[in-house]
Amino acid sequence: MTTNRKIQNSGFYKEPGPKLSSESPFESMMERFRFAADILGLDKGLFKYLSSPVKQVIVSIPIVMDNGSIEVFEGYRVIHDNVLGPSKGGIRYSPDVNIEEVKALAAWMTWKCAVVNVPFGGAKGGIRCNPKELSLAELERLTRRYTANLLDVFGPDQDIPAPDMNTNEQVMAWIMDTYSMNVQRTETAVVTGKPIILGGSQGRKEATGRGVVTVTLSALNKIGLLPNKVTVAVQGFGNVGSVSAQLMYEQGSTVIAISDISGGYYRKEGIDIPAAMAYTKENGSLEGFPDADPITNEELLELECDVLIPAAKEDQISKHNAHKIKAKIISEGANGPVTANADLILEQNGIMVIPDILANAGGVTVSYFEWVQDRQGYFWTEERVNRRLNRLMKNAFDNVYNVSTHYNITLRQAAYVYSIDRVATTLKMRGIYA
Ligand code: NAD
Repeated sequence: MTTNRKIQNSGFYKEPGPKLSSESPFESMMERFRFAADILGLDKGLFKYLSSPVKQVIVSIPIVMDNGSIEVFEGYRVIHDNVLGPSKGGIRYSPDVNIEEVKALAAWMTWKCAVVNVPFGGAKGGIRCNPKELSLAELERLTRRYTANLLDVFGPDQDIPAPDMNTNEQVMAWIMDTYSMNVQRTETAVVTGKPIILGGSQGRKEATGRGVVTVTLSALNKIGLLPNKVTVAVQGFGNVGSVSAQLMYEQGSTVIAISDISGGYYRKEGIDIPAAMAYTKENGSLEGFPDADPITNEELLELECDVLIPAAKEDQISKHNAHKIKAKIISEGANGPVTANADLILEQNGIMVIPDILANAGGVTVSYFEWVQDRQGYFWTEERVNRRLNRLMKNAFDNVYNVSTHYNITLRQAAYVYSIDRVATTLKMRGIYA
């Protein structure tokens, strides 16, 4: 972002508000894309290019079930773009997954990779199935056949899947093995999020929460607050939320509330986060967690605190409750926890929102490190992974912050402006192949 461009109206952006019929994550993302395109005065052709995925594949996946019958599932892989490098994005197994959702999530990955300056484009995939109704053997056959059907799409130089909803390191191991069997060599770099023994990276599991905390500390620094003097509330106590809570606790912050699907837990003097981690490990959830008062998830969001980390699910802060939020900083651990309509209200109330595509990009950053390590066949210590992750996240925050002050826009708008500018500038240099 070197030129001092004036905001132009190229006609992509329409003021949100009552006109915004849906508060779906996709609609919210498109609103933000149009706004950034306008600020950049993006060429109409480039806007069209970046609005549509470069490849969309739908495959039928027949498998033999344990009872001998044949079942056919539908699988998807969408590559939104591969301008900056091979495309990257997770694979989800869910009964509601569909091509429209996968398209939106693939575009999201493009902006997320660009904002942290990793050399990847965006992709996403999924299989429409209910993994809870499938045996482990059926899941393995489903995963292997899906991979086999997409052999020409996947590849360490082409498109690199990762875990997402209801997929895990075992699923990644099956994808890696199926791909490797077909290309007749062990190709660990074809997926990330693998078990460490198969070429996974140290620090990957904690990476998203660690990144959330790195950008939160940068934001606190900008508004002149010390981490050991602030109060924090965290919604969701899974992978992202628990690591974020633990690392803020280690910084000396007072974590006054945590929550999960069972409800919220509040203690004014601060919750003993290591004890909460041990409790969930033993009991499977926070339900019945002692030494804290029960509150609802809605009440947690509205608490008087300095930092709010929504790390559970999308659409938690909408136009219905945005005006009740009292935090100074919202750090989006989850994807899409704040809707586009809520953005306006939070902005008017002077609340700084660190957007998901920046705040939770630590995961994809360490996925990039995993890919680099696999390709080199040389593995880093956890200390090196964490150090490099912190550096990339800090730089990304500073870049986005500078864009936001340059144009006098929110961090969310700035994150989109930064990443769309980066992809569009690269695309212009590469040109359109004909
Ligand atoms: P997770 O399944 O490990 O944890 C989710 C947590 O949220 C659990 O504690 C669950 O009980 C809680 N929860 C679910 N529904 C809730 C509700 N209605 N109210 C309150 N709490 C609720 O998932 P995760 O990996 O920590 O992911 C959380 C969010 O972060 C998701 O939006 C995910 O897309 C996003 N994200 C995760 C990663 C990653 O690396 N894991 C990376 C980027 C973004």
